[in-house]
Amino acid sequence: MTETILIVEDEPSLQETLAYNLKKEGYVVEAVGDGRSALEAARRLKPDLIVLDIMLPEMDGFEVARVLRKEMSAAILMLTARDDEIDRVVGLEVGADDYLTKPFSMRELLARVKAQLRRGRLLREELGKSNEAAPHETLTFENLSINLTRREVTLGGEVLALKPKEYELLLFFAEHKSHMLSREFVLERVWGWDYVGDSRTVDVHVRWLRQKIEKDSAIPTRIVTVRGGGYRFEG
Ligand code: CA
Repeated sequence: MTETILIVEDEPSLQETLAYNLKKEGYVVEAVGDGRSALEAARRLKPDLIVLDIMLPEMDGFEVARVLRKEMSAAILMLTARDDEIDRVVGLEVGADDYLTKPFSMRELLARVKAQLRRGRLLREELGKSNEAAPHETLTFENLSINLTRREVTLGGEVLALKPKEYELLLFFAEHKSHMLSREFVLERVWGWDYVGDSRTVDVHVRWLRQKIEKDSAIPTRIVTVRGGGYRFEG
């Protein structure tokens, strides 16, 4: 199956280099140079992955990601120019699947692209399996319930507003209850980062989850920190 990648980059030479290298890998590639064209192209192509620059004419990459997140499940790999954008990129606001800080090497970019596409394939396979096996499966931990069919989490009967990555992280914890999970393992499985990534991403999402599911997020009893670099879900 040929995977489709949309490149959104306004700098012509970088756009061309990205397109050239991704086509060489066998992907179907389309490239645009501004935010509005990005929306139009994404809706038409339904790409598997979007390489999205932040500073763009018309509409910036943050806004493009926010709009497309609601419409499609394409992986979003953002290109940032500044370190201070990273928290917004991986955070609640945008929820990109991964990011690269400019300048980056093509080798690095290809590795990230492959990791995201592989993660997407695995996710679709798992979804297919769980839909067949258990159409209405719910995982319950005392007053916390995760409805896998509706991708909905309730606490004491109230539906929690979780962002997609918070949901995936909680589900991952729930499926590995009582196991100590290193940050690297969580990054690899939930974010698809098969390299030594920035483990701050995990910590930030754990902090947000704790604020939503713990009685007192300062003294967590559900997602506990394990000395030596990881977390354990206690239920
Ligand atoms: Ca730019």
